[in-house]
Amino acid sequence: MLTFVPNKKCSALLFMAQKNASCSYIPNDTQRTDVPFIFGDQLSHTFASKEEVIAVDHVDFGISEGKITAIIGESGSGKSTLLKLIYGLLEPTTGEVRYQGWLVPTRKDKLIPGHDAMRLVSQGFDDLNLYAKVWDNIASQLPNTNLARKERKTQETLARLKIEHLAQQRVADLSGGEKQRVAIARALINEPEVLLMDEPFNQVDAAFRDALQQDIRHIVAETGITILLVSHDPTEVLAMADELIVMKNAKIIEQGSPEALYFNPSHSYTAQLLAKSNILTPDLAAELGIACHTSVGIHQEDIAYHIHPDGQFVVKDIRFRGFFNELVVRRGPLKLHAILHPIIDIPIGTRVDVTIKRHIVFENK
Ligand code: ADP
Ligand code: MG
Repeated sequence: MLTFVPNKKCSALLFMAQKNASCSYIPNDTQRTDVPFIFGDQLSHTFASKEEVIAVDHVDFGISEGKITAIIGESGSGKSTLLKLIYGLLEPTTGEVRYQGWLVPTRKDKLIPGHDAMRLVSQGFDDLNLYAKVWDNIASQLPNTNLARKERKTQETLARLKIEHLAQQRVADLSGGEKQRVAIARALINEPEVLLMDEPFNQVDAAFRDALQQDIRHIVAETGITILLVSHDPTEVLAMADELIVMKNAKIIEQGSPEALYFNPSHSYTAQLLAKSNILTPDLAAELGIACHTSVGIHQEDIAYHIHPDGQFVVKDIRFRGFFNELVVRRGPLKLHAILHPIIDIPIGTRVDVTIKRHIVFENK
């Protein structure tokens, strides 16, 4: 049985007893061995500003070790608040969050807020010193007690993030993508067990996003680090996340692999977020011959159509989306968005017939 060690990273005894350097910060806390790596149980946070805001509302979740988990949801759904609760920057109003079975300490338990085994890369490069060189921004995270180690670790971390060539540049002169690499390097140099990132690709140009995402995936594979990131644009994280947590109005509404949630979401909100799916009421679904009591989702790629002079649908709009066009077709109150690929010249007003290749029946309305 492990005992309480006040505000210390770990005693030698504890360190031998456990694989990782995490331990109890809270008096009388006992380690739960029956819960996931990071575990939330009925976790809530209410901001007591002029009006009370329930930012996170009784959420339960489990996050696996050595994986990339993305928290997705529209703006204001509570993603950043959940990330801060996991890190220990905010106090739970109800429930608890555990890391390796131990309660996560908050400001009242610990002088410097934030779990010692975790690092947070916040939104907007708040932590970077814009007027210092890249090297100094990263090296400054290590003590001067062993200068040779400091030099070696900084070099290694620059190499890991592929920014060695930027070492002597001022952060202020870098692009958004380069700044984000510096921020991640700065967070990684102390070898945290968990890296938390809030909207990490917001300021990274689309052209550089993919390379950064794949580099992060390599870091996970090489080091076994656990990554938790927040995004309001799920299409940018579908390719990199192993697991998704979907938030809506302060609640977690579902959790699963990107593939499971893309193809078989339980909620129309998830289908819209991940696939910009067509959402139909039972009445409108019935017009397509789909009988059910709850709403129905039809992904844009699951609508087939062919041009026919007596077609029942009319092309109302064509939207340029790059390598494909989005076709908006209509029959009375029934409006569907479909993918036009390869792009062919279809005039607005053209009549088409529509076939639904696949649809999703949601659990709720
Ligand atoms: P997201 O990151 O998903 O956009 P947040 O977690 O930032 O959402 O916010 C969730 C809700 O909590 C929002 O309604 C937001 O306005 C509110 N909120 C966030 N931070 C504060 C704060 N410091 N004080 C009061 N309300 C806040
Ligand atoms: Mg946010």
